[in-house]
Amino acid sequence: MKSSEDLKRCVRHICELLECEYGRKHPAKTNPVDTLVLTILSQTTNFKNCKSAYEGLIAEYKTWQDVLEAPEEDLAKAISVGGLGRIKARRIKNALSRIKEKEGEIDLRFLAAMSTEDAMGFLLSMDGVGQKTAACVLCFSFDKPCFPVDTHIYRICKRLDLGGNSREEIANLVEKTIAVDKLYAFHLNLIEHGRRICTARKPKCNDCVLKDCCYC
Ligand code: SF4
Repeated sequence: MKSSEDLKRCVRHICELLECEYGRKHPAKTNPVDTLVLTILSQTTNFKNCKSAYEGLIAEYKTWQDVLEAPEEDLAKAISVGGLGRIKARRIKNALSRIKEKEGEIDLRFLAAMSTEDAMGFLLSMDGVGQKTAACVLCFSFDKPCFPVDTHIYRICKRLDLGGNSREEIANLVEKTIAVDKLYAFHLNLIEHGRRICTARKPKCNDCVLKDCCYC
């Protein structure tokens, strides 16, 4: 078993190797409500269907207030290509309603002034918003020290034996180890690596820049 210092060294090394391979991207600081809705739409679907669902939604509704006021079944229809239309429509409406109840308008920019812990707590108080979704909003829109762990990242980290049996443990380790200005790139680079090389079935280990630190 690796010591905590060995684990951190290993995470930093992997982050550097992936950055050399895929580059260092920076967050576009997208509107946080957009990020929240997009991430809810991304739950249990692939990128292509999620993008189509989001495009369907913004083609149908001009503002988030319109989405909040829309009948749930209409919203479910507009986003149905992403799957779980009913469930996601309910989650989106609940989230928008919770924001409006707190702020009087559908705007999440107030999270910038909150501590990461408090901002995370607020997002997690919404039905259907879990750790990954909340971390996406805080990392992508606010550059806060949060590391979203999706299916690709979880799979690769397990193969690399980066300690932790849960997504939360992996997120904690990375957040304590990697500088905040590298977290976003590390997240995206791991996903890209999971799509191109460390695929769920038949990973291309011979072509992998991480093979010297992998236990698979
Ligand atoms: S060596 Fe293979 S299993 Fe390990 S990270 Fe690379 S592709 Fe994945």
